[in-house]
Amino acid sequence: MGKVAVGAAVVCAATAVAVAALVVRHRMRSSGRWARAMGILREFDEKCAAPIGKLRQVADAMTVEMHAGLASEGGSKLKMIITFVDTLPTGDEKGLFYALDLGGTNFRVLRVQLGGKEGRVGKQEFTEVSIPPRLMTGTSDELFDYIATELAKFVGAEGEDFHVSVGRQRELGFTFSFPVKQTSISSGTVIKWTKGFSIDDAVGEDVVAELTKAMERKGLDMRVAALVNDTIGTLAGGRYYDNDVTIAVILGTGTNAAYVERAHAIPKWHGLLPKSGEMVINMEWGNFRSSHLPITEYDQALDVESLNPGEQIFEKMISGMYLGDIVRRVLHRMAEEAAFFGDTVPPNLKVPFILRTPDVSAMHHDTSPDLRVVGCKLKDILGISNTSLKIRKVVVKLCDIVATRGARLAAAGILGIMKKQGRDTIRDGEKQRTVIAMDGGLFEHYTKFSQCLEITLKELLGEEVAGTIVIKHANDGSGIGAALLAASHSQYLEYES
Ligand code: ADP
Ligand code: MG
Repeated sequence: MGKVAVGAAVVCAATAVAVAALVVRHRMRSSGRWARAMGILREFDEKCAAPIGKLRQVADAMTVEMHAGLASEGGSKLKMIITFVDTLPTGDEKGLFYALDLGGTNFRVLRVQLGGKEGRVGKQEFTEVSIPPRLMTGTSDELFDYIATELAKFVGAEGEDFHVSVGRQRELGFTFSFPVKQTSISSGTVIKWTKGFSIDDAVGEDVVAELTKAMERKGLDMRVAALVNDTIGTLAGGRYYDNDVTIAVILGTGTNAAYVERAHAIPKWHGLLPKSGEMVINMEWGNFRSSHLPITEYDQALDVESLNPGEQIFEKMISGMYLGDIVRRVLHRMAEEAAFFGDTVPPNLKVPFILRTPDVSAMHHDTSPDLRVVGCKLKDILGISNTSLKIRKVVVKLCDIVATRGARLAAAGILGIMKKQGRDTIRDGEKQRTVIAMDGGLFEHYTKFSQCLEITLKELLGEEVAGTIVIKHANDGSGIGAALLAASHSQYLEYES
């Protein structure tokens, strides 16, 4: 071997050693990164843990806050709003009734012909109209003129299958899902707008009066018989079909619950005791908070950066508006501190609310062997391509942690209500049946979430009591519920035999 050849061999060997060293270092670095990412995941998992003992504490705290909110105005984070609904539908309701549901970017109008116990819900029709964005931040007159015009069109198309009794006004149940200070069953003032609405001159005004004036301007002869929110509508709709419905829970963009309370257990109620002895309470439970809630630093950051910091803490851990963003925040941390997706942090991971709860749900339900859906979502939404199966599995685990915590906390909230009602135990051997009417897109579409909620509630109640409860999906309970409440609060009711 000549000198040159020896030299080349030495250089080759040196290069090989260097390359091997690089590979080892890279492996060490990437295994170090992986370990760091797993550390972040493990810590998040531990902080989110909601074992049965903790859930019992949350449920007890919920019951305590319910008492406090019923005792005095402002006595608790839970508003425990008196709804003036003291009679729920019985099934005897008869006649033609309308409902209007306003609570988001669309509103729905519905008409239903009720036929009493035998006829039940006869014919039913509805239409959905989107609200032009400029009207969401305009004046009260503009918004309600628009709604009244669409409502008048819908009434104008009423067919022969519907009958309003001669000489009677048409009556409407109005579902208005924004914060309202209720002043009677058919009046209430707007406290504030949410969900992208901002109509300053309507704040402090009676929303029923605003709608009624607009209907008059448009020549529509109709009376608002009941003003409710979606939770009350769901309770009423549920009760119509099942007499044992005493709780309603909404799990959609936001979350809320309503239930039937004994009127004499409401110290802050100074009015006459209703004949029924009962009163429906709108809890506004999204604003619940407790030191027992498993809050993480990611939840705290989400809250601080939200439009309503310090408010709706329970909602921010449970509802559809937020679950996706919690997952995004943890992924962002893993990308930043453990280079989970490579040397650079994918820019889309920094965009708030880019990952939505329906996406989390789709990834969580992915059953394909290579987690194809997860791969697609990561690529399409976050711009992260070529993810390994190992990485995808971690993403699914994250979705599972966030959804499981939300579902378990919602179950604890329901247990809190059942405790307040005395329905969490079997008294005197009497098996009292409790039906919980559920609605909202999160509950309806996120199967793993709703299954976990149901299993957890049954686990909390124990086998015997679990056998007495039913969780029912009240599909569009709130639309029909408002029409039913218009019927049970009709101005013509006294004249009926
Ligand atoms: P809202 O609460 O606005 O009245 P919905 O009850 O229809 O409306 O709920 C819509 C919400 O439900 C969405 O904002 C979303 O968070 C959640 N959602 C809808 N579809 C799904 C899904 N497939 N998986 C999980 N969550 C969903
Ligand atoms: Mg809704």
